[in-house]
Amino acid sequence: MNIYGGQVNRLIEELSGLPGIGGKSAQRLAFYIINMPEDRVQALSDSIINAKKHIKYCKTCYTITDNEECPVCSSKSRDHNTIMVVETPRELAAYERTGKYEGVYHVLHGVINPSAGIGPQDIKLKELMVRLQKEDVKELIIATNSSVEGEATAMYISKMVKPAGIKVTRIASGVPVGGDLECIDEVTLLRALEGRIDL
Ligand code: ZN
Repeated sequence: MNIYGGQVNRLIEELSGLPGIGGKSAQRLAFYIINMPEDRVQALSDSIINAKKHIKYCKTCYTITDNEECPVCSSKSRDHNTIMVVETPRELAAYERTGKYEGVYHVLHGVINPSAGIGPQDIKLKELMVRLQKEDVKELIIATNSSVEGEATAMYISKMVKPAGIKVTRIASGVPVGGDLECIDEVTLLRALEGRIDL
């Protein structure tokens, strides 16, 4: 039954297609948006369109960049045989700030989180597998956060990658459980990296 009318239903439908948004949340968001002042709705819709239009992913590691390939991937002085898997570009930036990591990265843009409706196909995992097939990778360092989802994602990747004979390591748990990698100081990040263990 069409209770709300076509336009509202369409908004609810669009919202419920987003990861982690069920029917009820979609309705709640739709009514919130309808009740927002018009200029805020405009700003929201502009920000979505502009983000989509202007933000580019590095064709290799999927971090956010202005170019085809990010500065790390296009650098000849980096070790392209070592890939560190991180959740977001923010963590890539945190490791870059340490100035001590010489490998390259792969940005997942999230972690597997079934309770939020985020499956392996919703993050850049397929892209990682394609990359591992094409490139000569010696070590894959999994640096997802130590949250339940981060750990589960690390195990999932390890199981997927190991049959290919690639060494898979996990950063040490010097990073506090549930800790957000972005907020951790550089010394702790380095210690976690240096103390990484085989998976
Ligand atoms: Zn890149």
